[in-house]
Amino acid sequence: MPDTDTPMPSAEADASSQGTDPSSKPFYDLAKWATKAPEGEKLISTAYGDKVQEDLKFVENKPGVHKPDAILVADDVTRHFGGIVAVDVKHFEIERHGITALIGPNGAGKTTFFNLMTGFDKPNTGTWTFDGKDLASVSPEKVARMGMVRTFQLTKVMSRLTVMDNMLLGAPSQPGEGMLRSLFPPLWRRREKEITEKAEALLNRFLLYKKKDDYAGSLSGGQRKLLEMARALMSDPQLVMLDEPMAGVNPALKQSLLDHIVSLREEGTTVLFVEHDMNMVRHIADWVTVMAEGKIVAEGQPKSVMNDQAVVDAYLGSHANIDLGDDSVLEGVE
Ligand code: ATP
Repeated sequence: MPDTDTPMPSAEADASSQGTDPSSKPFYDLAKWATKAPEGEKLISTAYGDKVQEDLKFVENKPGVHKPDAILVADDVTRHFGGIVAVDVKHFEIERHGITALIGPNGAGKTTFFNLMTGFDKPNTGTWTFDGKDLASVSPEKVARMGMVRTFQLTKVMSRLTVMDNMLLGAPSQPGEGMLRSLFPPLWRRREKEITEKAEALLNRFLLYKKKDDYAGSLSGGQRKLLEMARALMSDPQLVMLDEPMAGVNPALKQSLLDHIVSLREEGTTVLFVEHDMNMVRHIADWVTVMAEGKIVAEGQPKSVMNDQAVVDAYLGSHANIDLGDDSVLEGVE
């Protein structure tokens, strides 16, 4: 099904119609402050944002550069498809607690790199560690349990399941799964209650609570993106990898998605995202990495990388020209 979006009520109207009182959730304040703090005032918590920006301030802008506090480190990762070298990454590090954007032209190898890091595909060569742990040959399920989850360019929500059932599938282990546990109903009932409450809180936060009993297939493209992000958070990941979170999302939901990503960082989650929307990259990324023909060809502070005419001409091309000029959706961010 194409990942198109349909108009939906504004985020605030939606929030007011949620099943529980959104104002009781601190996150709601944080999300508002994240992008709409009154002039001259700072976010409620900028601890991680400040730390990351401080840490990255003196890191050289060059491909494969070492970072002060890397959570994901990849070495000599290659993936060939017949004669095509889809990924050929010599060395790459992701800074913990940062928002890193992975950009580059179509076919650069960004999605393949995501697939490799998260166990959805196997490389021809290479090693990579997550939080110091070797991840080569680890299954996607185990990678997720270890704290690294990803979303997909074309969402993988289960259309014929309800929104709530999709959320429950994102929980790390299901109630009654183990034989031993299944013999003790109080054990799995407690666990079931916990994960249901967690799913409800996340659906509330992502403005999907009132849709919890609807089939996921009835959601708009943008809402499916939100659901996929919410589902990814069911396992309390340390690193979230988002593949084109803004693609097919209408402007009202774009603002909301952007708030969610910034808020994730403020809660201590590391974010790596692939995006063609340069406007979004420029506004929220702490660090930008450029990929072309499978290789990391540039990385650095967003301003310097995205204002580098050579990078713009060679790797960003028309995407840069179109999106850099349109700030209307993100007014007030920065
Ligand atoms: P986009 O921005 O368009 O999503 P991308 O940067 O994510 O592009 P990939 O989808 O990773 O790029 O593709 C990298 C290269 O590998 C492309 O040339 C693509 O055609 C090729 N490729 C990816 N997956 C496969 C596959 N399963 N079989 C054959 N070739 C593939």
